[in-house]
Amino acid sequence: MKAIRTFTVRPVLRAQIAALDALASNWRWSWSRATHALFASMDAALWERVGENPARMLGALGQDRLDALADDDAFVDRVREEAERLHAYLTGKRWFQRIEGDRPAQIAYFSPEFGVDGSLPQYSGGLGILAGDHLKSASDLGVPLTGVGLFYRAGYFRQSIGDDGWQRESYPLLDPYGLGLTLLREDDDTPVEISLTIPGDRVLHARVWIADIGRVPLLLLDSETPSNTEELRRVTDRLYGGGGEHRLLQELLLGVGGVRAVRAFTRLSGRPEPDVYHTNEGHAGFQGLERMSEYITRDGLDFGAALAQVRASTVFTTHTPVPAGIDRFPKDLVASFLGGGLLAGVDPQRALELGLESWDGGDPDVFNMAVLGLHLGQHANGVSLLHGRVSRGMFGRLWPGVDTDEVPITSITNGVHPPTWLHPTLKALSERAFGDALVETHDWRDAAVVSDRELWDAKQSMKGELVEHARSALCQPDILDPGVLTIGFARRVPTYKRLTLMLRDPERLTRILTDPDRPVQIVVAGKSHPADDSGKILIQQLVRFSRDPRVRGRIVFLPDYDITLAKTLYPGCDVWLNNPLRPLEACGTSGMKAALNGALNLSILDGWWDEWFDGENGWAIPTADTAASDEERDDAEAAALYDLIEHQLTPAFYERQHGMPGRWLAMLRHTMTDLGTKATSDRMVREYVDRLYTPAAVHDAALRADGFAGARELAAYTARVRAAWPAVHIVSVDSSGIPQQAQAGGTVPVYAEVALGGLAPEDVAVQLVYGATDADDAIAAERHIVRLLPEDARPDGVTAFRGVLPLEMTGTFGYTVRVVPTHPQLVSDVELGLVTSAS
Ligand SMILES: *Cc1c(COP(=O)(O)O)cnc(C)c1O
Repeated sequence: MKAIRTFTVRPVLRAQIAALDALASNWRWSWSRATHALFASMDAALWERVGENPARMLGALGQDRLDALADDDAFVDRVREEAERLHAYLTGKRWFQRIEGDRPAQIAYFSPEFGVDGSLPQYSGGLGILAGDHLKSASDLGVPLTGVGLFYRAGYFRQSIGDDGWQRESYPLLDPYGLGLTLLREDDDTPVEISLTIPGDRVLHARVWIADIGRVPLLLLDSETPSNTEELRRVTDRLYGGGGEHRLLQELLLGVGGVRAVRAFTRLSGRPEPDVYHTNEGHAGFQGLERMSEYITRDGLDFGAALAQVRASTVFTTHTPVPAGIDRFPKDLVASFLGGGLLAGVDPQRALELGLESWDGGDPDVFNMAVLGLHLGQHANGVSLLHGRVSRGMFGRLWPGVDTDEVPITSITNGVHPPTWLHPTLKALSERAFGDALVETHDWRDAAVVSDRELWDAKQSMKGELVEHARSALCQPDILDPGVLTIGFARRVPTYKRLTLMLRDPERLTRILTDPDRPVQIVVAGKSHPADDSGKILIQQLVRFSRDPRVRGRIVFLPDYDITLAKTLYPGCDVWLNNPLRPLEACGTSGMKAALNGALNLSILDGWWDEWFDGENGWAIPTADTAASDEERDDAEAAALYDLIEHQLTPAFYERQHGMPGRWLAMLRHTMTDLGTKATSDRMVREYVDRLYTPAAVHDAALRADGFAGARELAAYTARVRAAWPAVHIVSVDSSGIPQQAQAGGTVPVYAEVALGGLAPEDVAVQLVYGATDADDAIAAERHIVRLLPEDARPDGVTAFRGVLPLEMTGTFGYTVRVVPTHPQLVSDVELGLVTSAS
């Protein structure tokens, strides 16, 4: 019989070890090697059975064992030490506290998933893991941030593989108390309840769980509360469970409910109100509408001023160029919610327009969450250099008339949290070699600090662990061989990631795997979305191939890819393979985690690899994007993959001096040093603070001051400029001063007459844009801008602007003159999508 609820009854902790409670209820244990080891040492076998979770461990240990530990002086000392370290961690000054000048007061970080630990399965893949790493680095750096998400009762599914190779899903229920979460309560101890008015005279209620991620509280809204009808209790049943209304309800709860949860938490915890709101992908976009509602009803702003205030303080990160990864809802469905009294004071029609695909060729019946995100966030970014470029192209339609490279979407490349992802063996080695220094400063290249033998032994031992894990997970004691070159490949299984590219030529792959002198083994893992049968077919093909007796034991599929498996998998591989269809992998982070753990990357030049591949840290699989068909492209890229394995990887790996692969180890040392510096989420979070959070906080303060005078003024300015813009044009440009033989170092006067359509000269910037030109006379992306200054306006409404063109470069170059709006609170010249160029 299946229980409908489970809960945990905890034994009493004696005073000597009472601090275990605090240690178990702060998720810092998951990246603190010593705290982790402390809990594991209480009962190693039980530790595994409780899924390596301290709160569960305390619930599962009997009173007798706990009493015995309380009498064990050495154990009590360790508890005290760890408790002191936790306290110091939570209260000390960190990077953020040492910033001088402007900085945000508090950032609210919204995400539909958070991958904090294997025992808290509130993530499906990279987006969630990234969010988890973001919180952990924010905590390590002392950045005042609050996470906001949903608590899914069943989280993401657990995967098993049937005899037929078909994926099976199961959804074990989670007990939040047993995991060490606490319920947000009013001062009188009643649980805080958030409520949302929704169509059909219904009210959706939610409670709020708090997971402490080091210094960062993570608020998770949970619709499982007695106040809800049976139907509405299911809203947060599963991560990405249903579609349509179920999904929309989840996103309304995350965005609108999330802001309300932040308000309650702020009130009860005494923390400052956030001045920056970061939405990790579009799912939480409704947070901006809820905040507009607050400004309208509480502060008396109109729609435009409320929008300006929200935009100024919102950071939007887009995470995928794959259309299926972007949430799109039927317009009428969203309209019914917006019109149903959910958001007091917000004009439903205007709110709806913020999410419509209002460009030529857009679907007029669709409400697009990425569009909403970009309209509500003045600060937007993609997640690698390449993805930034791709996103500017993809979303450029929202800024018609703006050159793609000027579309105001920047990029911050993702990173990973080394304390979480570095294998304990390497952590121990680096602590021995480098002391407590940050991973980012470790130089692994010096063989006097870490010898080849030490590094290779560490690698071999981590590989041995993976082999052991695979043998026991698949109940096959003879598969894999720790001496063989091991390639790992694990990810979610959407089509663009091409799980089965390696099977393109099965005979050739078989020869590679079974080469008598230089064999190769491949470890594969990955989950397909439960509703995606095409992904399940790919898994089935792979599983079936791995069961072919000719290759048995040389290629294995490990079920249930999650954080726990990942932590064994990455360190156990020599090479990490990634072969997406370029440029559909926005960033990718598994390769970074593998690199930190001494694996070399073998990847299509996509996402982060396009940026950081340097010829010494792995291999680039050439992209065949000019192939005539998808089939040909796959053939060509698979052939290149096989070539690289045969001609580059295996020779380097099997070439030994004194039993060790010298060339290989040199590449490892370089990879661990170089990517250890760049690929961390500390670097990433610092960039967010410097480049997006702080400017957002500064904008927020500027618009908020003097009773929101700035917001009202910016809104009025925007409306005025938009209305006048159709009449703005450049009447003439005079540069007759350009000599036939222009010489570097000289200058040329430029003079332009501009009709301002009723705007004042200071409302606009008249810009001379110049740079090298290509064969089509297009000015290159690296362009220079000089502002021309106005002279007296003439009675006919035309104003002359004057400036000089510096001839500072040689070669062919060109220039043009354009008019753009200018206002101190605009982030970019082209932000309003209003650009008028000379023709
Ligand atoms: C890192 C990670 C991912 C994301 O990896 P990608 O390279 O972005 O595909 C997915 N799942 C798990 C469990 C991870 O640890």
